[in-house]
Amino acid sequence: MTTLNPDILRRVADGTERMVSDLQQLIRQPSVSAKGEGLAECARLVSTMLEKSGLDSEILYLGEDISVPPVVYGEVQSRSNPDKTLLFYNHYDVQPAEPFDLWSHPPFEGVRKGNRVFGRGAADDKGELVARMHAVEAFLHTTGDVPCNIKFVIEGEEEIGSHHMGQYLDKYKSKFACDGIIWEFGYVDANGRPIISLGMKGLMFVELAVRGPARDAHSSLAVIIPNPAWRLVEALGTMRAPSGRITISGWYDEVRPFTRTDMELLESEEFDESMFKEEFGLDSLLGGRSGLEARKALAGEPTCNIAGLTSGYAGKGAKTVLPTVATAKLDFRLVPDMIPTRQFARIQAHLASRGFGDIDVAMVHGESAARTSPSERLVSDVNNAAGAAFGVRPVMNVSNPATGPMASFARILNAPCVAVGGTYVYSRIHSPDEFARIDLLEKTADCMCRIMDNFGFPQVTSA
Ligand SMILES: [Zn+2]
Repeated sequence: MTTLNPDILRRVADGTERMVSDLQQLIRQPSVSAKGEGLAECARLVSTMLEKSGLDSEILYLGEDISVPPVVYGEVQSRSNPDKTLLFYNHYDVQPAEPFDLWSHPPFEGVRKGNRVFGRGAADDKGELVARMHAVEAFLHTTGDVPCNIKFVIEGEEEIGSHHMGQYLDKYKSKFACDGIIWEFGYVDANGRPIISLGMKGLMFVELAVRGPARDAHSSLAVIIPNPAWRLVEALGTMRAPSGRITISGWYDEVRPFTRTDMELLESEEFDESMFKEEFGLDSLLGGRSGLEARKALAGEPTCNIAGLTSGYAGKGAKTVLPTVATAKLDFRLVPDMIPTRQFARIQAHLASRGFGDIDVAMVHGESAARTSPSERLVSDVNNAAGAAFGVRPVMNVSNPATGPMASFARILNAPCVAVGGTYVYSRIHSPDEFARIDLLEKTADCMCRIMDNFGFPQVTSA
């Protein structure tokens, strides 16, 4: 148990208007990483807000190359507990707002309506960021101290793949040193329950290209000219069974099995299968997966997904052509402890052994998976805090099915990492009319105060 000063939570509750106005100010500064728009300006604004909240802040660069967006860093030392450090990871960049005409409220104005603040980045990730800054401000304003050292690492390239985050982590490893990491997002489900995610899957993006005749040929010649589109389809057919099982030799060798605790979490996790099927217009899930099997797949099954296929003529009507080239883009979700480069070598070896050694294969991007053990002290600190702040038992999720640079953080900083926050699951992130719910921002700030307090508390808390 902790002894959180109630004045701190009162400061959070009384500060909602300030938090909303900070969020509006951040939304009004576009920061679209895909277009390199407004990033330096937004970084400066975030740095100013950290300082206003009582932290020291600086803007960090990788090197001379100014096309790499800066990382905003914030820090405040604890006087009462200087030996323990909690790090908040966030991002100040946003997705492009297009198509603009589908927005009911302009994407960069921060329109407030009832319980909602609309705008690109309102939820992802500017809302999460302001809630965290306000939590730290409440501690400093009320007590003049924080229960443990607090660090903020706020990057500007999350929405385009966090390409330089690993290099920033290497370069500033000692500056970012910490004992626990709170990830940039966390969802709240339709029943108001916070979803705590303990991991993220990895991702390997691969491109395949098959070359055929020197130029497109008349299709009557298909009797004597090999067609690269057929060759590509035949090669792809050897990589995966219709059940979803990947048939590349050795693919699953390093897959870490679920622990008993993981299985307990998976068994208690709720997944509304009928709502999911309705959402996507499906009669059944892949390979007949259902119930626990579907949840296990989401949290811990690797995928081989065709993201795009291109060849020949796909326009209106008929064109009898034998194409010169066929290409495929594949994404593979990875799970602990698969290593992207090793998996890539397995694809090359597989294609060669099946007689497809002539196919060009290139890895575009590789990111490992991360998973924090549920027995980490940080996990129970977060779980207790979220339960108290949101007033319901949180949902504990073994791994989010998506990907982020969590593995780089966990490996380079050697610290456990937990995703928790206040983003309503249907808040239209990456879509028109993205919004943040003000009631959830308030609860998130409250939750972050409790996390800092639990984490700084010397005794192990009980779940
Ligand atoms: Zn996003």
